[in-house]
Amino acid sequence: MKSKLQCPHCKKQNTVKRGYFHTQAHGKQQRYYCKSCDKKFIPRDAFYRMRNSPQKITLCLDLFFRGISTRKVQEHLQAFYPHKSSHKSIYLWVIKYSQVIAKFTNNLKPELGQEVQVDEVEYHRRKHPKKHLGVAKNWFIDSIDTKTRFLVAAQYAESRTKEEIKKVLVDIKKKGEDNIKIITTDGFMAYTNVVKKTFGYSNKLGRYKVFHNQVNARQGEGFNYPIERLHNGQRARTKTMRGFHGSVESARSILKGWEIYYNYITRHQGIDKTPSEEAKIHLNLGHNKWLSLIELAENTKSS
Ligand SMILES: [Zn+2]
Repeated sequence: MKSKLQCPHCKKQNTVKRGYFHTQAHGKQQRYYCKSCDKKFIPRDAFYRMRNSPQKITLCLDLFFRGISTRKVQEHLQAFYPHKSSHKSIYLWVIKYSQVIAKFTNNLKPELGQEVQVDEVEYHRRKHPKKHLGVAKNWFIDSIDTKTRFLVAAQYAESRTKEEIKKVLVDIKKKGEDNIKIITTDGFMAYTNVVKKTFGYSNKLGRYKVFHNQVNARQGEGFNYPIERLHNGQRARTKTMRGFHGSVESARSILKGWEIYYNYITRHQGIDKTPSEEAKIHLNLGHNKWLSLIELAENTKSS
């Protein structure tokens, strides 16, 4: 049967299905034949050239983001999978596939409510696995839609500057400009002008487009709902993550993965759905949501 698949060698679409190819890691895969250049090929997917099966890799991602350390995941694998995988490979899979999925999920648009809460949490990142090389103090700036609990935008930053806060606000605006009426933040000075400037002034309304609700924790005011719970969960989960003992880039990827886990994988207790479902992002993810997301990311890239 003729297929529309492009030949990876000559780039023509003159290909047909021809037989199967078997490997231990990936099982049975469809093989193709190119009538233009007379070569056979297997279409590449996200797991191309990985020695381990997609099931095993996504299992590791899932355990990791549920708070199991890479060393514990390694012990689990040793008991159930014959081919040994080191905790370092597990760590690299977490980073790689968080980035793969993020390229897809970053472009999805949630249906948000009226209020988004923005907050920052301080992280101490070991600069190197060897303790004596010191600790860097970084920030994770994130934002939650109070209606759906969707984590709208986040940024792992080396310092808590206006520029970093602005990046998060620009992203919030991109995702929910039509709905958002209130931005709630703590009393940190850097927010004051950035919120107004990012969302802008409406001549028609005679006021700024969003109301900046600044709460002062020192006077006993608090967010007292979603964002604090989010932060507590996040601190509990991320404290075992090895990435915070490495580069900023790896910490960033891991937190991106955690954001995906939070929005798309795990059911939120308050709503008994994932926040992405609550925000009407309908993806029809299968049984293995990590695998579905990776496949969606891969298909979106090629089309
Ligand atoms: Zn060809």
